[in-house]
Amino acid sequence: MPKSEATTPQDAAALSEAILRKLTYDLGKSRAGARDRDWFMATALAVRDRMVDRWLTQLRASYETGKKQVYYLSLEFLIGRLLRDCISNLGLNQEVAAALASLGVDFEQVRQAEPDAALGNGGLGRLAACFMESMASLGIPAFGYGIRYEHGLFRQLVREGWQREYPEDWLTFGNPWEYARPEIAHDIGFGGSVEAVAVSELRVRHVWHPAETVQAVAYDTPVVGWRGRHVNTLRLWSARAIDPLKLEAFNFGDHVGALADRMRQESICKVLYPSDETPAGQELRLRQEYFFASAALQDLVRRHLRVYGDLRSLPEKVAIQLNDTHPAIAIAELMRICVDQHDIAWDEAWEITRGCISYTNHTLLPEALESWPVPLMERLLPRHMQIIYLINAHHLDSVRHAHPEDGRLLSSVSLIEEGHGRRVRMGHLAFIGSHKVNGVSALHSELLKQTVFADFHALSPGRIVNKTNGITFRRWLHQANPGLTGLLTEALGPEVLDRPSLLPGLVPQAEDAGFRGRFAAVKRANKEALASVIRHQLDLRVDPGALFDVQIKRIHEYKRQLLNILETVALYDAIRAQPMKDWVPRVKIFAGKAAASYHRAKLIIKLAHDVARVVNSDPTLRGALKLAFLPNYNVSLAELIVPAADLSEQISTAGMEASGTGNMKLALNGALTIGTLDGANVEILEHVGAENIHIFGLTTEQVAAHRAAGTRGEAAVAASPRLGEVLEALESGVFSPDEPDRYRGLVASLRGDDYFLVSADFDHYWEAQRAVDARWRDPAAWQRAAVLNTAHMGWFSSDRTIAEYAEDIWRVPVAHTA
Ligand SMILES: *Cc1c(COP(=O)(O)O)cnc(C)c1O
Repeated sequence: MPKSEATTPQDAAALSEAILRKLTYDLGKSRAGARDRDWFMATALAVRDRMVDRWLTQLRASYETGKKQVYYLSLEFLIGRLLRDCISNLGLNQEVAAALASLGVDFEQVRQAEPDAALGNGGLGRLAACFMESMASLGIPAFGYGIRYEHGLFRQLVREGWQREYPEDWLTFGNPWEYARPEIAHDIGFGGSVEAVAVSELRVRHVWHPAETVQAVAYDTPVVGWRGRHVNTLRLWSARAIDPLKLEAFNFGDHVGALADRMRQESICKVLYPSDETPAGQELRLRQEYFFASAALQDLVRRHLRVYGDLRSLPEKVAIQLNDTHPAIAIAELMRICVDQHDIAWDEAWEITRGCISYTNHTLLPEALESWPVPLMERLLPRHMQIIYLINAHHLDSVRHAHPEDGRLLSSVSLIEEGHGRRVRMGHLAFIGSHKVNGVSALHSELLKQTVFADFHALSPGRIVNKTNGITFRRWLHQANPGLTGLLTEALGPEVLDRPSLLPGLVPQAEDAGFRGRFAAVKRANKEALASVIRHQLDLRVDPGALFDVQIKRIHEYKRQLLNILETVALYDAIRAQPMKDWVPRVKIFAGKAAASYHRAKLIIKLAHDVARVVNSDPTLRGALKLAFLPNYNVSLAELIVPAADLSEQISTAGMEASGTGNMKLALNGALTIGTLDGANVEILEHVGAENIHIFGLTTEQVAAHRAAGTRGEAAVAASPRLGEVLEALESGVFSPDEPDRYRGLVASLRGDDYFLVSADFDHYWEAQRAVDARWRDPAAWQRAAVLNTAHMGWFSSDRTIAEYAEDIWRVPVAHTA
């Protein structure tokens, strides 16, 4: 029985006392003067206390019992708020609510006073956060390693339809979850030279003399798993200058100059994803990557040596997972530590390295595959560049041995790209330095074998495996949707909270009109909550009875928000042409950020607002269509929108979305998907069944064929009068009277190259949307399909994903089964 159901008044009283003590003695505030933010801090500190004993005991125990440790290296952790997560996993929901109520404080207001920790851009960072929670829930001893950015992902404001970026400052009022560990610090070198010292007739040792050294200082956040059984550590590194101040310069009056070095060194952890538009920005990004990878390796090597005394047992006791190529420099760093610092022979060091490390690939987009200019690497990491050359020489030798005289193959699998300026290919380094390489959905993993890593796959068959992404059900179902969770526990028993494999027990209930009615009532309440936020934020009234059609994710051309907006315009035209027809009322809901330098994506945001202005103010529609763009998409906003969605837009150009996890959150919460056969949509289709999902559009093979044939958008536009009208309206400035040419370039690309196949897929998408309308008109059929989506989404729990990593890649046992 969950602890939360056995609340005793004593528990609540003890907690309210603890919270008051924190408020008084840690924050130095009186009850009368305390604001929501103070109550949040006090509550978080009191809740954190409940994790610490278990955390410390388990850390110690995992060393004493010689358990293998997992280290998850990620440049991003898109965590979101933690208060509700910790309270819920500790089983303290009712106690905390009661404790705060007894103090006259509203829990929901306190909860919302927590800043949203946005140390990530999107799916990749959110996956890392879900994985941390699942590893703790499964009782796998693990550390997450990343960077403690002072400023996370920018805050998005929209002014007159244009995105503006403002710095985000989650740390301004303090972070109650973390423990600063100023004594845990590692020196991170940059630049300088390499000295070859002869240690015997036969051997030289390489000694790197960095020109500059920065310290990486640890900040630890405990990560508590479901039911509070296990607590892991998220260790984020902050940069600290070794010489905080040039005292002499300061005393001579150069107050700013005396601090300049420190500022430059500490800039490493200032911002998530510094703009890579300038060489200085690119260099900072590489510094960040090496900074955290080196700190992580030094940290885990030191821990390992303290317990086991020898690096040769590293692969037996340590699994290191690289989340994308951002930490791939860890491969050269581990070689350097083994060879230069511990006198391990090269071949043995390589076995140790490959035995520990594995790599997750997240994208097939060629522009997103990281590579660094050789001159930059030579200047910033001279010893690592030597090591990479040596790894490459060994690698190419063995390829040459197996495939003599295949020059194409050699240059294709080399770590060095020779074309326009020599560059180090980090994906290739990650591939050969890992014992397993995984894609993140079945389709994506297959495409890895066929495209970017085809030659590597032929050389090392079996290295590439698939681990379809998942989401933590604690955050994305239990916490985000307590109404649905209550209904599920009522229908299936409280065990469903521990075992999503019980969800198919809902299948018979889908035939029960009474159950469907309760399911629909939960959705309705969630939609009313969202409608109220839309009214307050956008001053826009939407009908909670309308179909809530949701596309929430980063704004990117391949995700095709543009396709959705074009369909909105076409629907607008159709409704105006026949205003008396019984249209299915729809609210199109968008949220998402565009990269600051991605002009086309920002123009798409502007278009959404231009269309919204026209559509939302047109009385002839009589409420049949509304468009709402909610600003500043983040985890907290997702937690509000996901439970309120009827329709989930997953409409990327086939072959371009590696997996998606937004698709999983929405389907789990009973939204029907309209989507292409891309990423994990393919597996969602297999699980929920073709009759409960709306699939449309070109397949991956058809997309490739279109591109190979150079098919242009004109043909698709000519074949679709509906699309033609929409494009003419955009071109003639119907939606941008203040600047009639605003969308000419955009439309020209849809008629021309149409790289993302928006024009080519338009008619199929339109038809699929009309099939959605038809289903909506039959409420029983819609509700039945919605229930069946929830019933069949259990497999997409990140507990399942992590259990697969544990078994196939890390080879660690799982203590608690999901
Ligand atoms: C889940 C999530 C994502 C990923 O969404 P996709 O639709 O898979 O791209 C991005 N950002 C936030 C805040 C999320 O919660």
